[in-house]
Order: sequence, then C-alpha cells, then structure tokens
Amino acid sequence: MCEEKRSELLAKELIYKKKNVFEAKSADERAAMMAFAEDYKKWLDTSKTEREAVDTMVEMLSAAGFREYNLGDEVKAGDRLYLNNRGKSLFAITVGTKNIEDGVRITASHIDSPRLDLKPCPLYENEGVGYFKTHYYGGVRKYQWATIPLALHGVITKADGSLVKVNIGEDAGDPVFCISDLLPHLAKDQAQKTLSQAFTGEGLNIMVCTSPYMDGDEVVKDEGVKLNVMAMLNEKYGIVEADFLSAELEIVPAGKSVDVGLDRWLIGGYGHDDRCCAYTSLKAIMGAGETEYTNIVAFADKEETGSCGVSGMKCSLLIDIIENLAKAMGANPTVVRSKSICLSADVAAAYDPNYPEVYEKRNSAILHSGVALAKYTGSGGKGNTNDTSAEVVGFVRGMFDSENVIWQLAELGRVDQGGGGTVAMYVSQFNIDTIDIGVPVISMHAPFEVISKADLYEAYEAFVAFCK
Ligand code: MN
Ligand code: MN
Repeated sequence: MCEEKRSELLAKELIYKKKNVFEAKSADERAAMMAFAEDYKKWLDTSKTEREAVDTMVEMLSAAGFREYNLGDEVKAGDRLYLNNRGKSLFAITVGTKNIEDGVRITASHIDSPRLDLKPCPLYENEGVGYFKTHYYGGVRKYQWATIPLALHGVITKADGSLVKVNIGEDAGDPVFCISDLLPHLAKDQAQKTLSQAFTGEGLNIMVCTSPYMDGDEVVKDEGVKLNVMAMLNEKYGIVEADFLSAELEIVPAGKSVDVGLDRWLIGGYGHDDRCCAYTSLKAIMGAGETEYTNIVAFADKEETGSCGVSGMKCSLLIDIIENLAKAMGANPTVVRSKSICLSADVAAAYDPNYPEVYEKRNSAILHSGVALAKYTGSGGKGNTNDTSAEVVGFVRGMFDSENVIWQLAELGRVDQGGGGTVAMYVSQFNIDTIDIGVPVISMHAPFEVISKADLYEAYEAFVAFCK
C-alpha cells in the first residue's frame, strides 16, 4: 500500500499551482473549445474594423431576439436590447428580474484594433507610383507593417451625405496593397538604425497603383497615376478626391485568421485584441436567456487611442444607459452604480518563452492556463491603474471556481519594463467596482496576433458565469 506522505498531502492543500486546461478539462470540453474557435475565426474575418464588428454583432443580436433600444425607451424585466452608438460602438442589454438597485453586471471590451488610417488627403504620386499617406492608429510597431498584404476597409461620406462602404483586399480575386522595405543587399545603413528610426510614421506609405490613366492610346503624363486611381475609385464607388476629406479609411492586414501549430491549438489573426473578448462576451449574453441581474455588455471603440470621443469609454453613454434603465425601473441610478460590478474585458500579455527577459514568469499569463484576471495594470509604480480591491478579486475568484472556469491572475510583464491600461479606470471612476479580465495574447498589437483556443473558451465560460 503506497500512501501519500504527510508533506505531499500538505503541499496539495497549501501550495497554489496554476491550472492547465489540458489537465483540467475533459475530451468533450476540449472538442467544444475547438468547435467554438471555428465560429470565432469566421466572425473575426468579417469584423476587422469597429464598424464592421458593430454590423455583424447587431445582426447576431437581432437573430437572437434582441431589439433596438434608444435612451428614454420604456423597459421591463426580461427585455433583450441593444443600443447602436453611431455604428461604431455597441451595448447589448438584458433587463434582469432582480431589483436593479442590487446593481447591474457590466462587461466592457473594445472592437477597435491598431491599424493604419488614411490621412484626410491621402493620395499622391511619386515617380510613377501612386501612394496613400497613412497616420497610424494605436500602439503600432511600424516595422511589422512593411512587406505584408494589406486591405482597405472603411466608409466615405460623399458631398450629398450618402455613405459608401469600402472593402478591398479580402474577397477572392481582390488586389491587396503593401508597404515596401529595403532589400538586405542595400540595407547596410538602415540596419544600423534603431527600430523607431528605421521605420517612421511618414514612411508608412501604401503602394496603390503603378500605371497611368490612358486617354485612348495616349498616356496621361502629368499625375496620370493619381488620375488613374481616382478614375478606378470613381467607377467602383462613385467618389471624387475631395470625398477622402470626410472618410474613415483603415488599412488592415489582408487575409483570414488561421490555425497555428501542428496541433491546431492556437489561432493566428488580426485584431484578437480585443475582438476575442468582444466575441466571447457577445456569445455569453446571447445565450444568457432571462437574467437575474440587469446585464450590459459594452463593445467600445477608441480604446487603442485612449478611449476618447463619443464612441470611446470615456464618453458618458454607459452611465447614461444605467441612468435611463434605473429611471425606467423607478430606481436611483447612483445606488445602482454603487452596487454594480464590471469586468473590463481586454486581452492580457501571454508569457512568451522566446522573450523571457521582459516577463516575470510567476506573475505572467501562461498560454492554455485559462482566462487571465489582472488586479491592476498601469506602468511604473502602478501609475494610472484601476487597482481592484481584494474583496472584488475574491468574489470573482469564487464565482469562477464554482463554475469550473480555468483562470489565472497575471501582470503584463516585468516591473518597469513598460506598461499599459484598459477601459477599467474609465468605468470605476463612476463608483463601479471593476476588474480586468481577458485572453492572453502572443505578439499583441502585431498584424498577426496569436491566442489559445482553450483560453478563448475559458473567457467565454467566465462571461457565461458572470451573465446571470
Ligand atoms: Mn485591448
Ligand atoms: Mn491593445
């Protein structure tokens, strides 16, 4: 008879070990993770900008019985609603059966991702090549955007006020665009520069066209390439050059998300930050049915540039929604907020064994170890952080454990190595307890980000556990 030693029993009881999804979940659950990832990839490929994400999510919510809500509308328990904010941010709402003064449950992710925006006057011709000037959006590592296929997505408001949707580079047979880089044979000087010197903001120019407009058999010599670009865009979209002035055109990586690795447990693609949290929280509220608490699932824009503007989380709209729901239910909105809790659903940095020097492994999010909670983010001495109270971490921990959600607690990386923030502090400033939670990402903000299918699914399970 082989009995466990007292020290082994004691270690099991006393010592914390991070769980691993492969050990903790059954074969059936692992199959469910794989299937869930297939639907996620399809959605991700159709939702590369905040506007496209709002369009696809409104379609999904409508199909699941959610109807449009406007501030001031009457509401009652059991209502399933969505508020579409200017086509750029979105709120899904279930009105709960409990007294709303017991608080609402908020999940807040974002649907914008780092990218290259076209400048207001983007088009120019240089030595026979037509280019678009760009202004990068969010935390972009510029060198990563050269020599990859790029697509153009966005909208143009024409002088008559009509809106044209643009999407070039995604359909089979579509052309793509690119930013050039030097050949190694001629990169001696460039190779001596730092990354930020070698790749500049003004250098991120998109190759658009290399042939001039032909007037019959005659080549137009004076800015003929530029004229050719406008002639083609006019034919396809009915636009003139001045229409660029009232446009939001975004250059994003072209192509579809794919499985990574022989075992297919990873997904590579553009914009996991933060659409993996948007998708999982959307699926959670769609499947929640009638909820006890009133739930608000926010999908914000502008997180990558500081959450400013009418579609960012610094805008009062979330608070306006809470106030309107409270009033419609005859409740005091400040009491509602004081009892509410928010999951700030945004990705975490996954520990990368290829770059161990920037992480502190004990306190990092490990791939396949579940959804990552962050008590605090910020930089330096926890500067600019929403530091969640121990009580709230304890509540969330207990909730996840009781629902068998695999989760881990993580910091971004080594102290003083850098830092970052989320929308958490823009929610907690309104007297709402808020905690960060999200899927760990490898190569965050790169055109090709990588996440684990297991961690994606655990994020979904976490949001399901919360949407009650
Ligand atoms: Mn994010
Ligand atoms: Mn980000």
